Amino acid sequence: MAITTSLSGKTAIITGSNSGIGLGVARELARAGADVVLNSFSDRAEDHALAAALAAEFRVRARYIRADMSNPADCRGLIAQAGACDILINNAGIQHVAPIPVFPVEKWDAIIAINLSSAFHTTAAALPMMRAAGWGRVINIASAHGLTASPFKSAYVAAKHGIVGLTKVTALETAEEPITANAICPGYVLTPLVEAQIPDQMKTHGMDRDTVVREVMLARQPSRDFATVEQMGGTAVFLCSDAAAQITGTTISVDGGWTAL
Ligand code: NAD
Repeated sequence: MAITTSLSGKTAIITGSNSGIGLGVARELARAGADVVLNSFSDRAEDHALAAALAAEFRVRARYIRADMSNPADCRGLIAQAGACDILINNAGIQHVAPIPVFPVEKWDAIIAINLSSAFHTTAAALPMMRAAGWGRVINIASAHGLTASPFKSAYVAAKHGIVGLTKVTALETAEEPITANAICPGYVLTPLVEAQIPDQMKTHGMDRDTVVREVMLARQPSRDFATVEQMGGTAVFLCSDAAAQITGTTISVDGGWTAL
């Protein structure tokens, strides 16, 4: 059978996609022909405008649906409201950094809910739709922190290791069907939020931009270069392609060699 990468006729739901990696993945899926559903917890005119811009640029259908990924009913409601889900990208995520003894309980709960439990709820709602359609792709945006740890990121590292486990279970429960489940594990990705931290880091360390990026921010990333949101999107498009039909239950690191250390 010829290998195709066109996603025309498929509907992709990307959680947490009004900025950063989620938006980058949505753009690449739309470029490959998928109809896309953008999501976050806000409901601003600019959120809906992002979807309209994608529809115009890539000539696909695009919608923005508000749903709070910390709320199980919202997670399941997002999939129900979309009405179709061939490709599910679980991307919404937050971070908080503190030592375990003083790690705020409400931050722990929020990170586990948004970064891990949301993927359980969306996957539970999406699998019956994928089964009915006879095809599906679940792609969880984990992290290098799904495979390794750093101090002070207890909730984030626990949630990201958890989502790698959930990915494997999803893959095993769908193994004999034309559905795959995989996790992308990014290292440091240059998103607007990361970009915004660079001036502060330059001031704190008294370094120029290149030095602070290489020596401080990318100290654990052997390539000493950020990954890009477009590369995350391209990896997701590959996982949706026929070439990846037998890739399931695994992680793909896009981390400049972080996990090789
Ligand atoms: P970001 O802050 O730009 O994006 C996070 C997205 O999640 C935003 O769209 C935000 O609105 C959304 N979100 C947050 N809370 C939500 C909620 N309660 N309900 C719905 N949406 C919510 O950050 P990003 O860097 O693009 O991160 C995206 C994913 O990639 C996260 O899961 C993150 O852990 C992971 N990741 C990022 C990096 C990196 O270097 N940027 C590295 C590894 C993994």
